[in-house]
Amino acid sequence: MIIDEIHKIAQEENVSVFGTGPASEMADEPPGFRPEDFLPGTQSLICFGIAMPRGVYDTPAYNLETVWRSQNLMYRRLDTLSLHFATLLEENGFRAIPIYGCMPLGVNEKGTVVGILNQLRMAEIVKIGVIGRNGLLLHSLYGSRLMLGGLLTTASLPAMHYPENEETGCPPDCQICSEACPVNAIMPERKQVKIMRCLRYTSRTPLMSRLKFALLRARNKRAAARYMSLNSFDEHTFHICSKCVALCPYGGAG
Ligand code: SF4
Ligand code: SF4
Repeated sequence: MIIDEIHKIAQEENVSVFGTGPASEMADEPPGFRPEDFLPGTQSLICFGIAMPRGVYDTPAYNLETVWRSQNLMYRRLDTLSLHFATLLEENGFRAIPIYGCMPLGVNEKGTVVGILNQLRMAEIVKIGVIGRNGLLLHSLYGSRLMLGGLLTTASLPAMHYPENEETGCPPDCQICSEACPVNAIMPERKQVKIMRCLRYTSRTPLMSRLKFALLRARNKRAAARYMSLNSFDEHTFHICSKCVALCPYGGAG
């Protein structure tokens, strides 16, 4: 079966966590951000993650540069795998579309930059982790350090995930991430981040004019999203903060 071939490749590529689940569980996402909006007839979600080495966030020297380079390489690796799995599914008679970790982005009706499909929700549905108060995926082996890839497919795949895990979620009294955030962007009670506040603080995008983006965002959200995609993806954005990942003690991350 095609899913066995995909599992084999995922294991050869040292994918840390992998899961499949029903796309119908995302039917309540906002219009324009549902699986059906991207691939009519979608039956299944595939979502997987690779953990960033702990040392990337710990290194005292060139920490920001190391995170920047490592994340960009990881996005390429995950996105390439998503595309490869989609191609394999199509060669076996199904339709599939990769859901990339880095791009493309959209801008929702509130003007907030969002992924075209909520990858974190995909990850929870396929049971490869739970969302923490820092708005990121938590896993008992990898803490907050998983980066994600995924795809939608018309293939009806049996729900499964590995490795077996039991996630208790954030400890009741932990507030390390929200207390460390320099701009109070984390809403721990909602398990969300005010993404525009975070990006305004942390991102450096020398090729992208913030003024032009703001003007486009007010007039034409799609044009704003495309402008951002063309000028800020991959190594074209440098982040000066990753405290909500680096300081999270969940699971094996401590
Ligand atoms: S990356 Fe930094 S600014 Fe953004 S939410 Fe995390 S701690 Fe806050
Ligand atoms: S720092 Fe604490 S509260 Fe924040 S996500 Fe990690 S475990 Fe949860």
